[in-house]
Amino acid sequence: MDFELSAEQVAIRDQARSVARIEVAARAASIDASAEFDWDLHRRLAEIGFLGLTAPEECGGQRLDTLIWCIVVEEIAKASSTVSNGITLTDGIIHYISTLGTREQRDKYIPPLIRGEALCSFALTEPNTGSDAASVRTTARHEGDSVILNGQKMFISGAAYADHFIVVATVDRELRHNGIRSYIVPREALGLTVGDKLDLMGIRGFGTSPVFFDECRIPASNQLGGNEGFRMVMQGLDGPGRLGAASQAVGLAQAAMESALAYSLERSQFGQLIFDHQTIQFMLADMSAEIEAARLLTWNAAWRRDAGLPFTKEASHAKLFAGDMCVRNVSNALQIFGGYGYSKEYPIERFYREAKIHQIWDGTNQIQRKIIARQLRKEKCRAI
Ligand SMILES: Cc1cc2nc3c(=O)[nH]c(=O)nc-3n(C[C@H](O)[C@H](O)[C@H](O)COP(=O)(O)OP(=O)(O)OC[C@H]3O[C@@H](n4cnc5c(N)ncnc54)[C@H](O)[C@@H]3O)c2cc1C
Repeated sequence: MDFELSAEQVAIRDQARSVARIEVAARAASIDASAEFDWDLHRRLAEIGFLGLTAPEECGGQRLDTLIWCIVVEEIAKASSTVSNGITLTDGIIHYISTLGTREQRDKYIPPLIRGEALCSFALTEPNTGSDAASVRTTARHEGDSVILNGQKMFISGAAYADHFIVVATVDRELRHNGIRSYIVPREALGLTVGDKLDLMGIRGFGTSPVFFDECRIPASNQLGGNEGFRMVMQGLDGPGRLGAASQAVGLAQAAMESALAYSLERSQFGQLIFDHQTIQFMLADMSAEIEAARLLTWNAAWRRDAGLPFTKEASHAKLFAGDMCVRNVSNALQIFGGYGYSKEYPIERFYREAKIHQIWDGTNQIQRKIIARQLRKEKCRAI
């Protein structure tokens, strides 16, 4: 594998780095404090071309590879996990619609997402259905040309601002994953209500909310894909889901390490820079090595995806390692700030609150271990 980025990749990375440093970093604290989605910044990302980077050209995308997409997500996440979420969610949704949707659905829904004019949420999790995604209880009743949805979704990123929702529901709970279907539901559909924004510890500016469906009637033509619903949901989680989450975790850990390094070169105790205490140097050295390892796991999975190779195990490796690494290293970076790390004077306090989500969403890290183990068994059985 060639680890050298192309001139085009370097140019895109540098542009993302500069936007993150200048434009995103300037607003990150106020987004966190106000818990409001920054539409202007989201549209700015669209204007630069960072929404729909991997989307097919016929849908208005750039069809770039997953690797450069991961790099852009990492760079933006260095300044704000919340803002980078706009990219990961949008590309995840575009992936679903472009792979599963009809021509009409692609033409209708994808271009406004790429232009940053609309937001679409992905609604899978429910109050009683999290890790066990095949057990969704939201029902979809097909009646002639309509589908009627009933149930509740929980923790839906972007729901407070979304124009549409991709809703995962079941036509028959007895069928477990075989009964799962996806539907595109407009926000204004009668019977759909978005609950109050959840008061979260991090990722606060993304309008994460519950969504309720009470005899919510939509046209049957809003079904996304056929009966392969569950398989497609899982494949989407592998790609934009887990690789996006891993890239965000790498970016956040990198930002935390850079800020701790800078602080350690300014702060003196016992008559010397704290950097000169070997303990601090070793913490920074471990961070640097672990961040690089997480980045390479992520790039490896991205490269496999682009090469058309199986990448389920590799995406879970990346998400698992990057998520755990992020929590550990952002905590260590805060430690280097001592008491100042515990105040809101430095962004490291926000980084610490943002880090934890990377062990939870897109399949918790316990679930990633289950996926990896399942893949190991499959590989072993295939080899026998
Ligand atoms: C900020 C935020 C944004 C989110 N955005 C979205 C979104 O946009 N769309 C969406 O659909 N969902 C979203 N989620 C939901 C998220 O994906 C779920 O919270 C996650 O999948 C875990 O589900 P749960 O919270 O119900 O936990 P549970 O599944 O109840 O798990 C609780 C604990 O048990 C462990 N556990 C469960 N099963 C097993 C097992 N078999 N083996 C070992 N351990 C197990 C878990 O790892 C966890 O530690 C979001 C969540 C948050 C916090």
